[in-house]
Amino acid sequence: MRLKLHFSRLGFCLLPLFVVLACQPAPTHVEQGATSMAQFIAGMPKAELHLHLEGTLSPQTIVTITKRNGIDYFRSVEEVKKSLADRKPGLMGFLGHHNKSRDVLQTQQDFYDATFNLLKNLKDNNIIYSEIFFDPQPFTNRGIAFDDIINGIDTGRRDGEKTYGITAELIMSINRELSVDSAFAMLDLAYAHRGKILGLGLDSGPEYGNPPIKFKAVYQRAKEQGYHLTGHHDVDVRDSLKHIWQSLDQVALERIDHGLMAVDDPALIKELVRRGICLTGSPVKRATDPRMQDVDRIIYLDAQGVCVSLNSDDPAEFETGYLTNMMVVFQEESGYSRADMVRLMRNAFTASWLPEAEKQNYLIALENYLRTHESGH
Ligand SMILES: [Zn+2]
Repeated sequence: MRLKLHFSRLGFCLLPLFVVLACQPAPTHVEQGATSMAQFIAGMPKAELHLHLEGTLSPQTIVTITKRNGIDYFRSVEEVKKSLADRKPGLMGFLGHHNKSRDVLQTQQDFYDATFNLLKNLKDNNIIYSEIFFDPQPFTNRGIAFDDIINGIDTGRRDGEKTYGITAELIMSINRELSVDSAFAMLDLAYAHRGKILGLGLDSGPEYGNPPIKFKAVYQRAKEQGYHLTGHHDVDVRDSLKHIWQSLDQVALERIDHGLMAVDDPALIKELVRRGICLTGSPVKRATDPRMQDVDRIIYLDAQGVCVSLNSDDPAEFETGYLTNMMVVFQEESGYSRADMVRLMRNAFTASWLPEAEKQNYLIALENYLRTHESGH
């Protein structure tokens, strides 16, 4: 999740025109020939590398789970929507709702349902490959068994893959405000399940005071156990650039989540390009914002040759919603061409942790899509 957060006072599905797309399944088939830009984006085969399972719970999923678990809040869809609409700006306002909805998840079945439902939404957005974050520590700290968490998520993921014909991998994330010992304990609990988890991430907050270097030893052990490595570096955070340099030079992360403050450091930009390190950007927009956030930063980094991708982060909790809608808004704000939008999507596949041969197959499918849909308006 991001630290720089702004929210509309409107409910989740009350909306400027673009948000309509977020509230309904996007088209999954696009006619050959001339298509609108929105259709082009909807039909594009996509990869998403930065979304949090806990931020994808729809109001209906939340209510189904609270009823099943006998939880005495969020007993109706309207109540969840009101909680979303009433959030105060800023991180604490975001976390107030995010943590409350996250905490409805308690049983293996809950984690299964959340994951299976997410894969349906990925399919509706033509996301054919994804790497999904999940944060075990808030659950295990409440006494929920790690095995229940991972087995629910893994089974939901596998069933979703079969049902929807897409691929979903998992990134287990450290909550950076918690202790190093707690992160090591999580890694130990995951050891028996390490074949189900592709990478280790770092999220939550505050970031300042909890830099990547704090978890250097945890990352080192995770690398030895075969995990890929990434971590959040939010925008407008004190010492963000210092943290990104730490992650490159001392922690050896393979990817940087957010990381858009790199615009302020020409040497860092050069180094990201030289090392081929990719940034997972997640521009969002509140209804009252004149412009989507971070568009200029992404355009600048893209122009400098940095590999930056577009991602939805917490799609049930931002007004920009899932990836198709977010990309439509980004295109409108950036004026990017079809080829430009495909370049950003190519970055997502390139930055993925897919085996090289599979990566090339996805990239070929993306290029073919551009070739057959280049014309339009
Ligand atoms: Zn995030």
